[in-house]
Amino acid sequence: MRYIKKSGTEPEDLQKYKRDCRRASPPLKITYKDMPKDGSRKQLAVDQGYICAYCMRRVCLDSENKEQYINIEHIVPQNQLTDEEATNFSNFIGVCSGGRDKKDNARKTCDAYRGALSEEQQIMQLNPLNEAQMETIRYRPTGEIYSTDKVLSHQLSEKLNLNGESTYLKENRATAYQNLLKVLKREKVQGKWSKTLLKNMWDVFCKPNETGAYREYVGVYEYWLKHWMHK
Ligand SMILES: [Zn+2]
Repeated sequence: MRYIKKSGTEPEDLQKYKRDCRRASPPLKITYKDMPKDGSRKQLAVDQGYICAYCMRRVCLDSENKEQYINIEHIVPQNQLTDEEATNFSNFIGVCSGGRDKKDNARKTCDAYRGALSEEQQIMQLNPLNEAQMETIRYRPTGEIYSTDKVLSHQLSEKLNLNGESTYLKENRATAYQNLLKVLKREKVQGKWSKTLLKNMWDVFCKPNETGAYREYVGVYEYWLKHWMHK
C-alpha cells in the first residue's frame, strides 16, 4: 500500500449526473447505484498508476478482464453514509477484484475481504490517501506488510487480509524483493551499493512506464530502495 495523490476532485460524468439530478423537476435522488462510474474508474486508475490501492496488484479499465477490472471502493463504508454521500469522489479509491467470487473468505483480499466482515468490523482508519499514514508502511524480506503504528498494522491483516496465508500476496511481495536484490547483486556486492546505483534502480523499478502504469507491488521496491539509500 502506498500514498495516492488524486489529480482532481470529481470526474465530469459524475458532475453532470449530479447537476442533472438537481435540475430535474422534481429533483432526482443522487445515488451510488445510479451514478455513472466510468469517469471515476478512469481517474482512479490513472492516479494510482493502474495498481490496486490496497494490494498493488494490476488493475485495468477493460470490463471484459474479470481478474483485473478496477472496482470502486468506499474508504468510509457505504453503510455509514447517506445515498448522496456515497457518491462523494473524495471517498473513492480503485481496487482489484480481490477474489470476490471465491467462496472461502480466507482467499479474498482488499475490499472483497473487508466487505465480507460485519458492518462494524468494516470500519478502519487505514487510508492510502493519508500521506503521513502511508509513511509508516514497511515490508519484511518475507513479504509481510506492516506499519510502525500498531493499530494500522493490525488492520492491514484484519481488515484487508494483505498477509493472508491463503493468498499469494505475501509470496509475491517476497519475490519482488528477491528480484530487486538479484538485480542489485549482479551490479555490486551487497553493502557496496552507491547512491547512484540505487537511484538508477529507482528509475527502473519505481517509475511508471510509458502508459502510466507502475509495476505491481511497486511499494516494495520503493520501500527497500529508500531503506538502502538512507543507510
Ligand atoms: Zn487489491
